[in-house]
Amino acid sequence: MIPGPVKVAPRVLRAMSRPMISHRSGDFGAIYDDCRNLLKEFFETKNDIVVMTGSGTVGMDAAIAGLIGRNDTIVTISNGKFGERFTEIGERYGKALPVTADWGTPISLDKVEAALENGAKAVAMVHNETSVGLINPAKEVGKLAHKHDALFIVDGISSIGGNEFFTDDWGIDIAITGSQKALAVPPGLAIVSVSPKVEQRLLEKSASYYADLKAHLKSARKSPTQTPYTPAVPLFYALQEALHMAKEEGFDARRARTARLAESVRAAAKALDIELFPQVNEFSHYSNTVTAMKMPSGVTDDKLRGGMKKQGVVVSGGQEKLKGKIFRIGTMGICSQSDILRTIQTLELVLAKEGKLPYRGAGVEAASKVLGL
Ligand code: PLP
Repeated sequence: MIPGPVKVAPRVLRAMSRPMISHRSGDFGAIYDDCRNLLKEFFETKNDIVVMTGSGTVGMDAAIAGLIGRNDTIVTISNGKFGERFTEIGERYGKALPVTADWGTPISLDKVEAALENGAKAVAMVHNETSVGLINPAKEVGKLAHKHDALFIVDGISSIGGNEFFTDDWGIDIAITGSQKALAVPPGLAIVSVSPKVEQRLLEKSASYYADLKAHLKSARKSPTQTPYTPAVPLFYALQEALHMAKEEGFDARRARTARLAESVRAAAKALDIELFPQVNEFSHYSNTVTAMKMPSGVTDDKLRGGMKKQGVVVSGGQEKLKGKIFRIGTMGICSQSDILRTIQTLELVLAKEGKLPYRGAGVEAASKVLGL
């Protein structure tokens, strides 16, 4: 029940066991084409999409290495671990101008606008900050980026396909996801959408040889469709199968299901007197793909997560400065109602042992009500 890598469906695992094929063959090209077309629906975009072998971070790296030269400035928005990663990558290739807020608190749009007055080439933001369970205001930041002629890079790694995410409507020039999140594919692929405006403003030479967006776009437009270097072929089989699975469910239906599951977790938390961690406002909302909750007072991480693990349910803890202070439950991909009920029930078992359970079944009852059970 962690926020990625998530559970993978047997049919997706089976797809990976097919024999290897040449990545320069028409057979591979057909798979990659099919994925690229379905991914456009998944991303809600008309922009071109490339799939890179590597985890989600390679997509973040590709975006900045391709756009930000030594003398270029990138505004990096951060209120959690992954926003900080954007700052680190920005500093590696050019000049990062961070706009920060405390982890788990909403960012100030005024501060973003003030930073953009400095003539930045791009602004990078994490949409769903997985480390704190908070959704950042992509639509509003997109408007500010365009007002200041900055390209808008969004890490949608734990968001796309789970939360509402509208690449084109929000003016996102580069959107990124990773295979191990809402797509419910094993880890190892980064998926990146690229607007025509980005293509016009890519550096002559990306600072990254491997994660070179130009090279990936060029190969993806060859016939047969290709990747510049040998891709993780079994993961492409898995990606194709998982996209068809999501399409069969319906992309909107999947998002709605994810929202319902997260709402049921939030309801259970309330019933169990567990406080949600992030602070929300008019523009920043609770995530539907990962719910971050404060560790109940007097309960240790070891007791809570360790106790749940003994019962076969793995949830995530806090990262870095939030270690021991919060725990997180993922609801993306093919997570089911029974997964949620079992998780809440197991949480109750642990809380009961610690003398922190209001009454037996309080959380399950609240979650079931949201789920209509
Ligand atoms: N950005 C966000 C929002 C994430 O949730 C993650 C992973 O959890 C990453 C970036 C990093 O992705 P990866 O570990 O696949 O490189």
